[in-house]
Amino acid sequence: MTARIIDGKALAAELRNRVAAEVIRIKRDHELTPGLAVVLVGNDPASELYVRSKHRQTQDAGMASFEHRLPADVAQDDLLALIAQLNRDPAVHGILVQLPLPKALNTEVVINAIDPAKDVDGLHPHNAGRLAAGFAALSPCTPLGCIILSKTVHASLEGMNALVIGRSNLVGRPLLQLLLNENATVTIAHSRSRDLPNLCRQADLVYAAVGKPEMVRGDWIKPGATVIDVGINRIPADGGKTRLVGDVAFKEAAEVAGAITPVPGGVGPMTVVCLLVNTLRAACAIAGLPRPAV
Ligand code: NDP
Repeated sequence: MTARIIDGKALAAELRNRVAAEVIRIKRDHELTPGLAVVLVGNDPASELYVRSKHRQTQDAGMASFEHRLPADVAQDDLLALIAQLNRDPAVHGILVQLPLPKALNTEVVINAIDPAKDVDGLHPHNAGRLAAGFAALSPCTPLGCIILSKTVHASLEGMNALVIGRSNLVGRPLLQLLLNENATVTIAHSRSRDLPNLCRQADLVYAAVGKPEMVRGDWIKPGATVIDVGINRIPADGGKTRLVGDVAFKEAAEVAGAITPVPGGVGPMTVVCLLVNTLRAACAIAGLPRPAV
């Protein structure tokens, strides 16, 4: 193996410590405790796991954590009423509605109901539009994490050829905008793109956010490239068990790449910490304080 393994877990722990130190400072200097409200509708086991982890990490960082659990058959108006209440609550600076929502609820209407100043998932069209226009915005956590991880390898991404595979509102599209802000030259690929292996071979930076296990092969990677694997796929393993793999064939790609994130332990841990970063930023912005130094 030649690639440097980007240790997302260790880097996330460092960033979490910096956030916690900043929270102590603003509590002391401004009597402000950043607060994150997480809304979970139904009891999908994967969502339960994410929500528990967010709750624990928010508290560990010294912030206030508010959990709201609603039954899967909650009326949309009741969910909207809860969001309106959280929008008004001065102790809440970040609101996250855990996705996916049950099918009977309209995700777009629910996201649009969140105050953009508290939209720490960065999914409200106000924030997506500001990000696309190059203005300061709350951006989605996973793409933010991808940029932070890339910058542990390259001090600057300026002029680099970046390929983003996937164009979802959650990952691919905002990542494209963040990379542009970093002055990278960005190509975005999707299911209709032609000759993906060849597009990939041109890229100094590869971001795979597809949801297809080990789709990106080793011989697609330009020697020395940095590979950030966003994918989380559960596949069958020996003994009737399952295991997690990314969208990149890790072993093959690590023979060619200069640096690569593992799955698990790469993008995932950084995503949760970026939620804390966004909550801290939202709290400071709402209180009229300067942007925190994290
Ligand atoms: P979506 O399903 O919303 O988007 C997938 C994208 O991949 C689409 O744009 C789709 O193209 C594209 N795609 C599908 N098949 C191909 C193909 N054969 N070649 C090229 N592009 C293709 O997924 P998300 O963006 O929400 O998530 C992507 C992955 O990242 C998933 O594995 C998810 O679990 C993981 N994830 C991980 C997070 C983390 O914290 N680590 C957070 C969020 C997601 P088209 O638009 O044409 O359909």
